[in-house]
Amino acid sequence: MLGIMMDKQLNIADILEYAAQYNTDAEIVTRQVEGGIHRYDYRSALRRTKQLANALQSLGVEQGDRIATLAWNTYRHFEIYYAVSGMGAVTHTINPRLFAEQIIYIINHAEDKYIFVDLTFVPLLEAIKDHIPVVKGFVVMTDKAHMPTSSLPNLMCYEDLIAPHSEDFAWPEFDEKTAAGLCYTSGTTGHPKGVMYSHRSTVIHAVSACRSSALNLGPLSRVLPVVPMFHVCAWGIPYSSPIAGSSIIFPGAGMDGASLYELIDTEKASALLGVPTVWLGLLNYIESINGNLDSVENVVIGGSAAPRSMMEKFQDVYGVFPIHAWGMTEMSPMGSLCAKTPYLMAADKEARARVQSKQGRAVFGVEMKIVDDQDQALPHDGKTFGKLMVRGPWVASGYYKNDDRSAFRDGWFDTGDVSTIDADGYMQIVDRSKDVIKSGGEWISSIELENHAVGHKAVAEACVVGIAHPKWDERPLLLIVRKPDADCSKEDIIGFLDDKVAKWWIPDDVVFVDSLPHTATGKLLKTEVRAKFERHYLE
Ligand code: ADP
Repeated sequence: MLGIMMDKQLNIADILEYAAQYNTDAEIVTRQVEGGIHRYDYRSALRRTKQLANALQSLGVEQGDRIATLAWNTYRHFEIYYAVSGMGAVTHTINPRLFAEQIIYIINHAEDKYIFVDLTFVPLLEAIKDHIPVVKGFVVMTDKAHMPTSSLPNLMCYEDLIAPHSEDFAWPEFDEKTAAGLCYTSGTTGHPKGVMYSHRSTVIHAVSACRSSALNLGPLSRVLPVVPMFHVCAWGIPYSSPIAGSSIIFPGAGMDGASLYELIDTEKASALLGVPTVWLGLLNYIESINGNLDSVENVVIGGSAAPRSMMEKFQDVYGVFPIHAWGMTEMSPMGSLCAKTPYLMAADKEARARVQSKQGRAVFGVEMKIVDDQDQALPHDGKTFGKLMVRGPWVASGYYKNDDRSAFRDGWFDTGDVSTIDADGYMQIVDRSKDVIKSGGEWISSIELENHAVGHKAVAEACVVGIAHPKWDERPLLLIVRKPDADCSKEDIIGFLDDKVAKWWIPDDVVFVDSLPHTATGKLLKTEVRAKFERHYLE
């Protein structure tokens, strides 16, 4: 028997229509790439979005076409998200930090028809323009006064493009499973893989993300997404904020500590989202000027493990609740997080740290399990390591134009992460499957060792890799970047780790380096580190 309810299909455009009608107090503030601050409300955003949808139609954009962006977090990028997806085309956000060859690959693989580009990234496209013949034209996201002279063919100016068009546009109706957004994983090996979001997955994810047991957004929130709109849609903030009625503060190109602090301070940001590296920059800056984070209620930290020292600084020094979160491109990206609970609010420092160092409980809509090498379920006892599998309405079921189905098994997605899950449902990432160190048949978590090492006062960054060993198969090697003007020896570090992990986890050697290689999304590039130190324990 079927329910007797309307079959109204979910559409991303409905989010902005709703916000424009009901969330009239909220504003969208942008630090402009051209300089200065721009502000308007959801109503004005909707009007301009409709002008853009008309403009796209006049350019011949049809449903299903991929329209790319190479852009910072700004109001124009926000308008593109809604205009492109709302008319039935696909918003393809390109990560400008990828290597040129990867960007070329992605544009050709996606067959992008037009590319919208911020002033910053025009030279990047000029350098590769001969390798992307699929693209019909380029729109610079600026006004006439700031248009650059450029060798790009069929160059247009965003403001000139939309100006002549009507503010009326009837969003077409289509199946909610229609493709809406495309985002490629950065991929440390092989070609980047495309994850194709639908209207349905995006809207359901956004509704789930706003709740106070998730990202904690509401009409009083002033959200600053530092996580880029070119990295898993800024964790869905451009969709969940208008639903929640929150104001959005877009940081544009200013991702350094000083620029972020100025924006937080003057715009009274209350909710921040970003990766640990960004918060390191912000916290260092605040310390240097003796500043505060008085307007901020919570900070979401995800993308890689949040160090304990960082969470304590936010919470104990600045009174900001850290929400440790885990997710990935294939999951739109929200998977699990550590929201406020009665237990956490009452716990002492040690008990709180034990919970918050974990990546949290699955949010409603995501199911999780851990399995062994034969895909058999493992116990949720907080100790047993297993491959983390997930399923849910906003989890990818395959990659775009890619036959590799090895991660998709029995209706579940193998995240490539190794984790534990405890009896209360808290999941803890132990490692990436490819990074976990296999020493004498037992597993050692490189992430846990790194987290302990960065707790040492002289350590700026730490990286642990498994290196081939004649007796134990693999043994951990610790690489350390010291803080400027700080000093420490191998013995200092080993001594520091001594009471924090099991004896057999202690790295056999510590190497001090000036810098560590990172991927385009700021994660440690361990393949490169392993290759460089391949023979370290053999010679
Ligand atoms: P990429 O394009 O680099 O894969 P993703 O954002 O999709 O970018 O990366 C997802 C991966 O990042 C996860 O599978 C996990 O390994 C890691 N990750 C994300 N959040 C956390 C976290 N809070 N702690 C530890 N690792 C995390």
